[in-house]
Amino acid sequence: NGFTRLNLAPELIAAVEDLGFSQPTAVQEQAIPAALPTGEDGTAAFIDLMVSSQTGSGKTAAFLLPVLHTLIGLQREAEERERAERQREVEAAAARGEAAPKRKARRNPTDPRNFKPAVPGALILSPTRELAQQVAHDAIDLVKHARGLRIANVIGGMPYQMQIARLQNANLVVATPGRLLDLQRSGQIKLEEVRFLVVDEADRMLDLGFADDLAEINRLTSQRHQTMMFSATFAPRIQQLAARVMREPKRIQV
Ligand code: AMP
Repeated sequence: NGFTRLNLAPELIAAVEDLGFSQPTAVQEQAIPAALPTGEDGTAAFIDLMVSSQTGSGKTAAFLLPVLHTLIGLQREAEERERAERQREVEAAAARGEAAPKRKARRNPTDPRNFKPAVPGALILSPTRELAQQVAHDAIDLVKHARGLRIANVIGGMPYQMQIARLQNANLVVATPGRLLDLQRSGQIKLEEVRFLVVDEADRMLDLGFADDLAEINRLTSQRHQTMMFSATFAPRIQQLAARVMREPKRIQV
């Protein structure tokens, strides 16, 4: 399979094979390696990318695969920390001659009294509900072999309570800008841990008047994050938007 040389997590290669993708498309071939961490130790280089590509080019997987690869890495680190913490507790108890402490009971995550703000590691912004739903759907297909990664849509028109319920423990949020800002302002979602921000169909974002919302979301997102912007063209107005939300982006044109 042509995806194996892209250094993606094995869970993602398995999903791509299930979908019947045998070779990366041109935009995937260029954007995926550019977006992946480059450091020897796997640390992110936080390179911003500006990609021009059309619908049908495979652009959705071109941003979903590096985003999901990053999230899988973050999840492994978190699990490792939890394991080490548990190990320390067990050893400390043994040193005192005590039995290992009981694990904390998990609270029922579907009970609204237990709802907590979502703290996603990645955020994808889409101009329309339909596109946001399609992207979330594609993401779900790609994470089927990655245990425990949660994907949520944040879109206008969905009842707030249902949206907040689905946001519980979300790692990846696929959102339209207006509703995302509503939930951020009401404290249901925190953007400080976002490491990867994707702006899909930037030209339509501008047509729909989302430029200021995008700049605001970018400001609310953690200082050190990587941004990928996709657009059909690099028209001057797109470049102006890019300059508001990215630092010296690398350009990819297919
Ligand atoms: P997009 O440009 O993201 O809307 O993708 C267009 C279509 O191409 C979608 O139906 C994808 O499932 C499909 N696709 C994406 N990447 C590949 C690939 N590497 N090989 C075959 N089909 C693909």
